[in-house]
Amino acid sequence: MSEAFLPFSRPFISREAIDEVVSCLESGWITTGPRVAQFTEDLKQYLGAPYVMTLSSATAGLHLALLTMKLEPGDEVITTPLTFAATLNTIVLAGARPVLVDIDPHTLNMDVSRIEEKITSKTRALLPVHFAGLPVDLDEIYRIANQYQLRVIEDAAHAIGTEYKGKKIGSFGDTQVFSFHPNKNMTTGEGGCVATRDAALAKQIGLLRFHGIDRESWNRFSKSGSQDYDIVLPGLKYNMMDIQAALGLHQLKELEGFIERRTELVNRYQEVLRDWPQWILPSEPSFSHRHAWHLYTPLLQEEVAGMDRNEFMERMKNKNIGTGLHYRAVHLYPYYRDQFGFQRGDFPQAEAVGDRIVSLPLFPSMTDAEQDRVIDMMYSIFPH
Ligand SMILES: *Cc1c(COP(=O)(O)O)cnc(C)c1O
Repeated sequence: MSEAFLPFSRPFISREAIDEVVSCLESGWITTGPRVAQFTEDLKQYLGAPYVMTLSSATAGLHLALLTMKLEPGDEVITTPLTFAATLNTIVLAGARPVLVDIDPHTLNMDVSRIEEKITSKTRALLPVHFAGLPVDLDEIYRIANQYQLRVIEDAAHAIGTEYKGKKIGSFGDTQVFSFHPNKNMTTGEGGCVATRDAALAKQIGLLRFHGIDRESWNRFSKSGSQDYDIVLPGLKYNMMDIQAALGLHQLKELEGFIERRTELVNRYQEVLRDWPQWILPSEPSFSHRHAWHLYTPLLQEEVAGMDRNEFMERMKNKNIGTGLHYRAVHLYPYYRDQFGFQRGDFPQAEAVGDRIVSLPLFPSMTDAEQDRVIDMMYSIFPH
């Protein structure tokens, strides 16, 4: 077996996207400018969102969306333990305490039936994650948010293209944060955006993402703009560059095709693995939705498999197949254990899933032959 290493994810960058990046580099304007403006318009169209703020990452988006809430010490934000560290890190950096709700072991999303028992007088926001591109039950999230007067910030890092009951994530609700990291469903290298229907919130994010300056640099430095500006608050430096938007303009056009290919590959995995006793396969909720399939994450039943998840990942690596780990339960990482007193046993569903979950290779340019290799290697580990 001398075949090249197959990574668990690989971005597909078209010739048109590469040419656009080159044009951008040659244009004399490489930071935030006309390509970001165009990409922003395209995202508004695609998402059906009146306001879209492009940023340097989804982490920046979560941070800014939370900063606009002016959280005070002791304030609480409710989220899931089965997520990337950025979801919790930004809650802490914005000054609040993360309060966790265990997951539904079938959808791997936050168990919405257990949110209300965690609400206190200090709760300010719900921050659900659409895990792997499967939407959280948003009717229930927004019902709770309305009843208790809470903000909702959706971590939609996995969910560009996801639909809930016929509506795109980003087209309704409070605030959604998308990621364009290379592993995600579309990429700008690094990058992200916030979608919202709230003009004042969009304005605040616009200020916070660029030093608190009340005018975009493109306007200041173009011939028609003025050089003068005001600082109205202490902002950060989270703007997206035109080099990134050059990629994004083309990735967005290709996104539907990317999701279709991901879905085909997932259907094949589901069909082949259905009868394997070693695996528990992803399952979907009964409400109507479109899964964007950012990740394909079966659970390895270690008792049946005779090995744990880490050993399976190691064996696959030795056979030149990459896999991913999304995610170990976040509350068990040292910082969260020590700072907030979390321990094993607090969120048993997320812990059990976090110990067994593995992301199999899944990316839009993956060929049938590459998927065959993955499946053949899995057969060689679990002959049956
Ligand atoms: C990737 C990811 C993020 C962070 O996205 P970046 O664009 O890399 O900052 C946040 N939350 C979740 C659930 C993610 O998977």
